[in-house]
Amino acid sequence: MTNDKKKLPRVELPADARLDTLAVREGLPPSPWGENSEALFLTSSFVHPDAATAARRFANEEEAFVYSRFTNPTVTMFERRLAALEGTEACLATSSGMAAILLLAMGLLKAGDHVICSRSVFGSTIKLLAGEMGKFGVETSFVSQTDPEEWRAALRPTTKLLFAETPSNPLTEACDIRALADIAHGAGALLAVDNCFCSPALQQPAKLGADLIIHSGTKYLDGQGRVVAGAICGPEALINDKFIPVMRSAGMTLSAFNAWVCLKGMETLSIRMQAQSARALELAEWLERHPAIERVYYPGLKSHPQHELAMRQQGGVGGAVVSFIVRSPQAGGPAAARANAFHVIDATRICSITANLGDTKTTITHPASTSHGRLTEDQRLAAGITQGMIRVAVGLEHIEDLKSDLARGLDTLAA
Ligand SMILES: *Cc1c(COP(=O)(O)O)cnc(C)c1O
Repeated sequence: MTNDKKKLPRVELPADARLDTLAVREGLPPSPWGENSEALFLTSSFVHPDAATAARRFANEEEAFVYSRFTNPTVTMFERRLAALEGTEACLATSSGMAAILLLAMGLLKAGDHVICSRSVFGSTIKLLAGEMGKFGVETSFVSQTDPEEWRAALRPTTKLLFAETPSNPLTEACDIRALADIAHGAGALLAVDNCFCSPALQQPAKLGADLIIHSGTKYLDGQGRVVAGAICGPEALINDKFIPVMRSAGMTLSAFNAWVCLKGMETLSIRMQAQSARALELAEWLERHPAIERVYYPGLKSHPQHELAMRQQGGVGGAVVSFIVRSPQAGGPAAARANAFHVIDATRICSITANLGDTKTTITHPASTSHGRLTEDQRLAAGITQGMIRVAVGLEHIEDLKSDLARGLDTLAA
């Protein structure tokens, strides 16, 4: 690539524009029609003025839109906006969050390479690394979410990638991004961080040393539970050299429509994250005082084991996911704990009973029988997920209505 390569134009924004401004404005300049809201370009291919131009564009000597498996203006707007929010040079959109992690693995790893990953990451991430990538000869060691020394001890000469997610689901355990970046870089490896739970509105892992940031756009970027989407953010050299070639050949492409939904969703990302997190904090404090509750997991609470680290990394905000354990008689064992958790979930009338999160609609789920239902009871207990645990991903309903919704089941347990 040469420096005089003809590049796509940029939106003219002040160099010091802040996150809230970038979330609304970054993208591509409008088309000749001057639309104010970004256009949805539903087209599979793009037309060239002549054969020589087409040849230059296919040879990547001129940046232009060619074919929507790898280039589409609406998708580019989404990518530029997300890169601006994460503070990275570039971004590549994918069809889902899991497709982003698959692209990460395909772009960086080959047979014989080694990955170190937190034991507390999203379940499908564990399955993808240990199972699917294992079939291709990539080995993964799973280590503690909270103890960086376990990561250091797991390093091998073949370690290429460290993979973290913070805070974790459903226990909201934080890991120290800066410490993991130092461990990765000391060993010549890269650190990737799944930033789904905080979004760049609260946490920007690149500023703490992470090389690559993974997103499930399905969650807070869309923000209203409409589409499935994903992305990798990182340095231009890595995106261009490692990931775009895989995208071109393998095609885990984000559709223009889904990109457009997330692009428009990002305009309200910051105020949604602040408002949903404020409700989550109030709910967590209320739950902590409720007699039917054994324990609450929320990074914004002083009782959270990594409260200070999480507040430092997350701009002083705990995020919108709260988990808690419902009290149950010791003698009843796991069955009684599960019955009490189900009672609280089934007594709600506002919360949606679904394992998804990141929606303006509050969702409630029983991790032990849904997201973590494929684990054995021993694996679940090792992961700290008990039958009495409930996870709530707080949306934008009125906080008093949410408290009443949970109180309906909790008060009858406490009585
Ligand atoms: C949902 C989720 C994913 C996977 O994203 P999809 O868009 O559902 O493929 C990955 N990581 C985390 C933390 C998630 O919550």
